[in-house]
Amino acid sequence: MTSWQEISFQVLRRDNCQCQSCGKRPAGQVHPFVPRSEGGSDELSNLITLCGRCHMLVSTVPDWIVARVWKITLSNIPLERQMVQGRIKRKVEQRSKSR
Ligand SMILES: [Zn+2]
Repeated sequence: MTSWQEISFQVLRRDNCQCQSCGKRPAGQVHPFVPRSEGGSDELSNLITLCGRCHMLVSTVPDWIVARVWKITLSNIPLERQMVQGRIKRKVEQRSKSR
């Protein structure tokens, strides 16, 4: 069985340690596109590299914490989240097409 550590290492290597949403490097957080709670797998195709900021925007962390940590205006958070989700979705779609 492959450990999560090995899997995330492979994901980071594939994505060149670059945030697949905003392009920031180095980025080191591995995010499942389809959440595990919704049946998402630990397959490489379901995993994407994100920076801390983009990752927190699409996580379940409450908005006010995200706003405070990343100094984002609270009212801008839904828009920023939508942008990150949209970019991740496009990346994952591109990837599945190129296969
Ligand atoms: Zn980012």
